[in-house]
Amino acid sequence: MMERATAVVLLLVFLCHCMGATIERDASSLEEKAREYLVYRNAQEKQLAQDSNLASWNYESNLTDSNREAMMKEQEKAAEKSRELWREFVAEKWPEKWRSLQDPDLRRQFNFVSKQGASALTPEKLTEYEGIVTDMTTTYGTAKVHHCVELDGEEVCELSLDPELSQLLEREKDYDTLTKLWVAWRNATGKVVRQQYLRYVELTNEVAKLNDFEDGGEMWRETYESEDFAADVAALWEDLRPLYLQLHAYARRKLREQYGEDKISKKGPIPAHLTGNMWAQSWTGIESLLTPYPNKPSIDVTDAMKKQGYTPLKMFQLSNDFFKGLNLTEMSPSFWENTIMERPKNTELVCHASAWDMASHRDFRIKMCTDVNMGDLITIHHEMGHIEYYEQYRHQPLLYQTGANPGFHEAVGDSLALSVMTPKHLKKVGLLHKVDNDAHADINFLMKIALSKVVFLPFGYLIDMYRWDIFSGKITSDNLNCEWWNKRFEFQGIKPPVKRSEEDFDAGAKYHVVASVPYIRYFVSYVVQFQFHKAMCEKSKQYARGNHKQALHNCDNDQSADAGNALASMLKMGASKPWPEALEKFTGNKTINVDVLRE
Ligand SMILES: [Zn+2]
Repeated sequence: MMERATAVVLLLVFLCHCMGATIERDASSLEEKAREYLVYRNAQEKQLAQDSNLASWNYESNLTDSNREAMMKEQEKAAEKSRELWREFVAEKWPEKWRSLQDPDLRRQFNFVSKQGASALTPEKLTEYEGIVTDMTTTYGTAKVHHCVELDGEEVCELSLDPELSQLLEREKDYDTLTKLWVAWRNATGKVVRQQYLRYVELTNEVAKLNDFEDGGEMWRETYESEDFAADVAALWEDLRPLYLQLHAYARRKLREQYGEDKISKKGPIPAHLTGNMWAQSWTGIESLLTPYPNKPSIDVTDAMKKQGYTPLKMFQLSNDFFKGLNLTEMSPSFWENTIMERPKNTELVCHASAWDMASHRDFRIKMCTDVNMGDLITIHHEMGHIEYYEQYRHQPLLYQTGANPGFHEAVGDSLALSVMTPKHLKKVGLLHKVDNDAHADINFLMKIALSKVVFLPFGYLIDMYRWDIFSGKITSDNLNCEWWNKRFEFQGIKPPVKRSEEDFDAGAKYHVVASVPYIRYFVSYVVQFQFHKAMCEKSKQYARGNHKQALHNCDNDQSADAGNALASMLKMGASKPWPEALEKFTGNKTINVDVLRE
């Protein structure tokens, strides 16, 4: 018995060992195959990105029919290639196998390629889908408003959004003229694309369903890797709402003084066209009306920039110097060669500022119709923040060459601009001469920040709330525009200057809506950028909690390699780890929260 028992045990042990070895060998050969597949896949994706990004750049920077045709052709080729990659993926049975991989890094990359995306549509539908987005973006990019006005000593009658309309909305104080411009822009954009947008929604939902999502909203939220992302952002907004309400009440009172009590009610919403911005998403355009202590020296440097002969190039160089000073990577030679800084004469292009990764060595570019003013100086830092992210993660596999989440990508440049905007820094670079260090000057500066950062929050939140509701069918073509204004009223507390109808589509007067770019990333960015800023200020020793002389809003991280290195350590990770890990590495904290913003 004894012998036998031993024999059985031995046999079992042997068998176990033997099976273990087989499983291990199979597993390791599966891991090996997976690794090989990802090398192949990353190379294929890179080629795809190279070809289609270049064609898109060519079209968006010069909106001609032949460029459009070339881009469509490239999109078709890319779609065919995507389908081919998907067929291979399925044929090699990766959809069934990848979840059993041992290496978490392999699983993460496979998860990224485990959905087919838009190329799951039939070729005809995909062409239609891409055509609609291109059409809507082109309508937006080429829209003109007829209104004669003198700008920089010249009479102009066909106004583009950038720079003419944007400038005019800040400068003009006549209620009726502002109404006219506000309505005309919506007639030239949203109203034109309304029918196309409804079809776009159907097709987006079809893409979502083909990729196992409930609808387009769920598909868009997936990138945040959260159980209930909609609830996460709702909680952040609830925390911030009281701050916004105070600011709203203050602005309302100031606007009543300017436009009269018949135009602005004591407790009601603010008319959207009086905020100095086409979408009322920032109120810095009417800063002169809202500055609490107008007798203090101005902290806006637009006039100084003009007086000192600033050019768009000089603005880009100033921004580049700041990145360099933090020991971050400066812009590459090909950046300076290919970047478009000014609207070229006699060329139609999409002027909305954007940063491009051409997926080819260090070929990164910005396209922007820069105007010499402080707002655009900040925008340049924002766009360069994207380029810096590209630079830092370019050694990652292509699948990881993206932000930890899209909000992080938007927050990089902004978090640096929080230093650049400080009066202390602007004095250092010679754009301000006199800087007061008393409470009134501080409050003016904090108000300036609030008018762009706090004012933006409800807007950044509602755009995708609105689109998620459209995708889920809660909002339909019957109440498309009405629900837009319900959200604008509920979150921003604003109203249209004239009656709107279901002929209009006012959300379509915003670039990201027609260009199919998700927007909640900006809301996330406007919260998390303050966490980034604080982390850098701790590294640069420019901030000490409770010490008024080293308050967070006065912190300037200029020339601090420690601050820059801390930021870079997170940027280098790209999307290789879930964003809470990236955030923790940089700030010591795993969650996005509003504490710093309220500090
Ligand atoms: Zn951006």
